[in-house]
Amino acid sequence: MADELNRSRLDITDTRAPGAAQGRPYLSVNFACCGVYQRIYRSPDGSCYAGRCPRCARPVNFKVGQGGTSARFFTVS
Ligand SMILES: [Zn+2]
Repeated sequence: MADELNRSRLDITDTRAPGAAQGRPYLSVNFACCGVYQRIYRSPDGSCYAGRCPRCARPVNFKVGQGGTSARFFTVS
């Protein structure tokens, strides 16, 4: 099981209209593990945002879904 991944998963509501965005949407993530910020981009199919810490390669995965948060800044501890 991918328990390590599941702990850092959040629901994010993305209400942006298709085609309206310029470039790929991204989230700003503060990796508390190493005290660094990194942008993580939405997956090609639009179902999630996935990325990893630039220093220790800790993976993060934010699921896009209704009822989630509209925040664009996150801290991963
Ligand atoms: Zn790290």
